[in-house]
Formats: sequence, structure tokens, C-alpha cells
Amino acid sequence: MAKYIFVTGGVTSSLGKGIISASLAKLLQSRGLRVTIQKFDPYINVDPGTLNPYEHGECYVTEDGAETDLDLGHYERFLNIYTSQANNVTTGRIYQTVINKEREGAYLGKTVQVVPHITDEIKKRMLELGQGGNYDVVITEIGGTVGDIESLPFVEAVRQLQWELPEEDTVVVHLTLIPYLKAAKELKTKPTQHSVKMLNQEGVHPDMIVCRTERPLLPELRRKIALFCNVKQEGVIEAADVPTIYEVPVAMMREKLDVICLKKLNITNYNEPDLTKWKEFLNKLKYPKSRVTIGLIGKYLELQDAYKSILESFIHAGAVNECQVQVMNVHSEFITADNVSEKLAGLDGLLVAPGFGHRGVEGKITAVKYARERGLPFFGICLGMQMAVIEFARNVLGLKEAHSTEMDPETKDPVIDLMEEQKKITAKGGTMRLGAYPCDLKEGSLAYKIYGKAAISERHRHRWEFNNKYLGQFEQAGMKASGKNPGTGLVEIIELTGHPFFIGVQYHPELKSTVENPQPVFVHFVKAAKAYAEKKNEVKNPLLQNEMT
Ligand code: GLN
Repeated sequence: MAKYIFVTGGVTSSLGKGIISASLAKLLQSRGLRVTIQKFDPYINVDPGTLNPYEHGECYVTEDGAETDLDLGHYERFLNIYTSQANNVTTGRIYQTVINKEREGAYLGKTVQVVPHITDEIKKRMLELGQGGNYDVVITEIGGTVGDIESLPFVEAVRQLQWELPEEDTVVVHLTLIPYLKAAKELKTKPTQHSVKMLNQEGVHPDMIVCRTERPLLPELRRKIALFCNVKQEGVIEAADVPTIYEVPVAMMREKLDVICLKKLNITNYNEPDLTKWKEFLNKLKYPKSRVTIGLIGKYLELQDAYKSILESFIHAGAVNECQVQVMNVHSEFITADNVSEKLAGLDGLLVAPGFGHRGVEGKITAVKYARERGLPFFGICLGMQMAVIEFARNVLGLKEAHSTEMDPETKDPVIDLMEEQKKITAKGGTMRLGAYPCDLKEGSLAYKIYGKAAISERHRHRWEFNNKYLGQFEQAGMKASGKNPGTGLVEIIELTGHPFFIGVQYHPELKSTVENPQPVFVHFVKAAKAYAEKKNEVKNPLLQNEMT
């Protein structure tokens, strides 16, 4: 049986519980332990698939097609392992299970209550991943902030497990904030004291307190926190702000977060941490040799988290290329034919983002046209690929009214259309084409060159697809389907002949990029942007020289 680490959060949200959990997991993994992480979210949606990105950031999709919290993306990117539906549980899913069981008669004669029925279901799921013999340690992140009404049943489940499991099988790590008061020139521990008191009132005693802080946490402050919060002084850990989330594992190693957890869990059989590859990556990330600017054309740009996996994929791909990728956000709603060259000036590559609904699509189409006509490296993801198809239909094939039936159900030329099996579906939750599907690549294509093999598998989240009735027309004019689903013939990749780099993918490659395995399309896109930037400079430099002489 596995051992369990629970991570709770106090004082405020957004302290980075996901990153701390992923970093701790990385350190344990680097010591040769088999680790996984799961997240329990206290909202009533059964999964975050029905939440607007403005509400909850990106919806991360796993291999098995689960629509999950974006923290699972961090887990996969850090650990280089797959997660699944079992790694993300919401209050909604717990209640749905309990209510379904009640209807089936599983509790016949009994009053169904939060304690024990809801908490039993939570505990069952907390323990499940650790029972298959696949992991030595399971880290469970409890979403929300301690003291919230909605996280109470989860904290109660942790309380019960702390007593039910052997003492050495659980660790509770509590993440808090130590604010710096400028006027007083002091770090303040009171909010942490209160948040631990709250946790204690709910019956849970943290073994470790990880303190987010802008300033160093000096020994006397650590002593104070230890004293007031009833933890050992070695259990008070400083989590100082760092320039990139990828430095957190190294910072946590310095603070011995992993070693102290291992001690409490009485795990003695582990190696020295091997972070060689991780540090190589960090080094390349910190000391890039060149720089490119990529335009991210999207519509949820006000919120950093909405395109999380795309931004992280650029960090991975940038490091491989020893190139700093500067992402410039461009709001698709405000791009018009008149201002496009001004809005997209100075870019070395253009990425048109995934999305839903008609808002901003005309701007995306205009941006694709700009990239196609100027030989600017282009990468379209999901809706971005669909926009490239529509642009080509309208401006090259002359099908002026071409559209997707998502935006215009009555269009004369539905070059993007609803998948057959989607036509009967009315329920919204979990009903898209989700998860990993195989894709065959055409030899000699750009896609084949990028992946270096003929068969790949990538993750999906969409309802619409390329309408194969038009494929002949597209291919004849130079837009080729270079990747197709082997079973259904669905077009998964389109590319343009005669363009230095123009690729659109129906799947979400950003979901599979990790520090150890950067996603190949991103890697090659950055490479193409680098080449574009170099060429631009070559053109510029002779002029500069002329001016100087
Ligand atoms: N709205 C499009 C579809 O459902 C694209 C989805 C996406 O970009 N994830 O097909």
C-alpha cells in the first residue's frame, strides 16, 4: 500500500498548491519513488469541462478523455507521467455517485448524510490510486482554502484518514502566505497562525507548513511559526518567490521538503535525487541564445491561466531551441483587415488558439490570411486549425461564404461541420470528442518530419471537424491533409505546400508537452520562428550597415 501526503492551503487562494505538490512529487520521483498526484476540487460541477475559461482557466484533458483541472497539467509536465479521471475528483462527482447509489438502493433504510456517506466516498477515492500497487506515494491536493464552507467535507475526510491510517502513512502539508507589510518593514505570521488554527478546529494537524513569502524567512520567524502552529521547526519551509515555476523543485530540495516528508512517512529506501535532466532544462531556459516573438491570437487573454498548457509548451520548446519565446497576446476580436498588419507587426510566428463560439472568429481568419500570404510561420490548434481551413476556402478556393456550422449553421459551404456522432448529442458535460486518438501521418509531409514517425496519438476536445466532402478541392489547391484518423478518416492535420511552416492540428498538442518530452510541433514551430527571425535580421542588417557607413 502507498503512503499519503495531503496538501491543503490557507490564507488566500492562488498560492500555488499545484506547483508545490508537483515539485514535491518531482523530488520524490527523482529519488526513485513511484509517485502520483490527485486533486480534489470543492465545486459542484461534475468536472470543469462546463466552466468558462474566465472562471477556471484552461480545461486540461487526460489520455482517457477526462476534462480536468489545469493543475493536472502541471503534474504531467513535472512528472512526465499520465494522469487520468481518477486524479481529479470534484464535489459534484462525489455527490453524483452517492445520489446514484441512493437511488439504486445501496443505503436502503438509512438517512444519507455528509458524514459518513459523502466523506466515505471521498476517502474511498483518496485511497484508490494508492491501492493498486503502482505507487509508493500518493499526493492529494485539496482545492480551495481552509475555512471555506465547501472544502469542509474534504478536510474532514483527511482528518479521519489521519486517525484511521497508521501514523507513519500520512503527512499533511499546509501552504500559507506570510505577507510583507511595507509600512512596518516586517513579514507577518498572524494570517498563518489563524489559518492553522482553523485547520486545527477542523481536526487536522499539519506536519509541515510551507510559507509563500517575498522575503527570506529568518530563523526566529520560523521558530515563531513552529511554536504557534504546533509543528517542528524543521517542518516550517520557506517558499520564496522564484522567476519560474520550474525552479520550485530545486528551491524545495534546498529546503528539504522531500526529506522531511520521507522522515515522517518512515520511508528509508530512497536514492540521492537525480535532477540532472531537470537542471539541464533550467539552464537552457535561463540562458537563451536567441529570442522570438510569437503572436497568440485568442479571446480569453485577460486570464493568464486560460492558455496555460500552450504557454508552458512554449517554455519547453524554447528551452530545446535555446531560444526565449516571447508570447504576445493579440485579442482576436479587435483584428480587422485594416489593422492586421499593424497588430501583427514584428511577429516571428503566429499561433491561433483553440476556442468555442463565434466571438472573435473573423479576427482569427484575418490573422491566418496574413500569415499565409507573408510566409509567417503559422500554427493553428483545434479552432485555430478550423479557422485556417475556412480562410483557405474563402480566399483561395473562392468559397466566399465558407464557414463552420458552429458559427453559421446555415452556411452554403460547411467546410467545418459537426461530426456525425455529435449530431444526436444534446447534453453538454463530457460529450465532446475527448482524449487520445491515433493519427496516421503522410510520408514526406511536414507533420511526418516533425514527429519523425508514421503513427502518433494526440488528445482531443472538440465537436466539429474538417468536412471531407471538400478534401479533394483543398488538396488540389495546396492545402493537404497530412494526418488522418486511421479508423474514421477524420482529418487531424492540415498543412500548406509552398509555405515555410504552416500547420493546423485538430487535436491539442499542448496537453502532452512535458519538461522531459517537449511537444514536437511546438519545438519545430519555434525553430521555424527562429529561422524567420534570422532571415528578417539578415534583410535588415545590410541596410543598417549602409546607414552606418
Ligand atoms: N469549437 C470547436 C469545436 O468544438 C473547437 C474546439 C477547440 O478549439 N477546442 O470543434
